[in-house]
Amino acid sequence: VTSIPPIPGAAPPDLAEDLARRAGALCAIPSPIGHEQAICDEVERWARARFPAVRRVKNSLVVSVDPAPGPSAAAPRPLVALCGHLDTVPVHEEDRGPPRREGGRLVAPGASDMKGGVAVAMRLAEALPRAERFCDLALVLYAREEGPYLENELGDVLAEPGDLARAALALCLEPTDNVLQLGCVGSIHATFVFQGRAAHSARPWQGENAVHRAGALLAELHARAPREVTSGGLSFREVTSVTRIEGGRARNVVPDRCALNLNFRFAPGRGVDDAAAELSALGARHGAAVTLTDLSPSCPAFADHPLVARLRERTGIAAEPKQAWTDVARLAAHGIPAVNLGPGATAQAHQRGEWVELAALAEGYALYERFLRT
Ligand SMILES: [Zn+2]
Repeated sequence: VTSIPPIPGAAPPDLAEDLARRAGALCAIPSPIGHEQAICDEVERWARARFPAVRRVKNSLVVSVDPAPGPSAAAPRPLVALCGHLDTVPVHEEDRGPPRREGGRLVAPGASDMKGGVAVAMRLAEALPRAERFCDLALVLYAREEGPYLENELGDVLAEPGDLARAALALCLEPTDNVLQLGCVGSIHATFVFQGRAAHSARPWQGENAVHRAGALLAELHARAPREVTSGGLSFREVTSVTRIEGGRARNVVPDRCALNLNFRFAPGRGVDDAAAELSALGARHGAAVTLTDLSPSCPAFADHPLVARLRERTGIAAEPKQAWTDVARLAAHGIPAVNLGPGATAQAHQRGEWVELAALAEGYALYERFLRT
């Protein structure tokens, strides 16, 4: 058998297999949000056996892949952080079996969101030697991403950034179908409460209907088109939706209270305070009492950042706006520019029977390798 010469630029034949094996090993340790200790223990063991420094915070890890720059280092190399969460959404009942392979796919909860991405980051740290990279590397692997903003352990990790404080760029390997997604919209949840006065529904004039009082607000939001906002040359959409509504006690009683959950997604370049003020003014105009319940900042696109330019030049990948919230915003709020790029399929996140393509894992790895090579 004559050996086939490798095609220049093509992935080594074992790359997809190796990444599938790594991702499969991560998926074999279930880690629904709040249950990340076992997977964190395992990844910590892997990291301590290979790299000079590992910092554990609760069930989250900061792995310094390279030695810290000495005090004599005149110009230390830039530090790039590869970030990924270790948790998944709660496992669907029919997905409780072990990970399996189907054709060119790995099928398991978290395969796309985002253990495939974590596997790519782990292989990059292990297989791409420091001398062949333009930068130093850190891995940030953390717990409780799939829950409320304040419980996410990336917040705990960044509260004491350590050597992450010098990171020039962070890349989140969330599922993006290997497309560079820049920036992200911020998100505010608010409870709007309309008060009325109960009465018999045969004589509603003796009370005041709180559900009817919400009508003008609902009509205004129903008629409102998304607001296009350009940031970093990309177009984001500002949108406000009522996502829950509650009111009424009985079929024959005029409701005395109507409570709505509003979710406002606002564009990069806008602060949380400014966005909150817009929501409060909306409530005031319609006579609702407003309570803000969950405030997540937006993230700039960083389209002109030199390392983002390097990434685009080296890989030729397309860039699009992130019309959702991700932890790039939290990193940016701590002074670390951040973008999204990962091998998982966006449409597979949180799905039953979640899968990731082996070819997409290999492609994602190759993109990162081209970016990181000297
Ligand atoms: Zn995710």
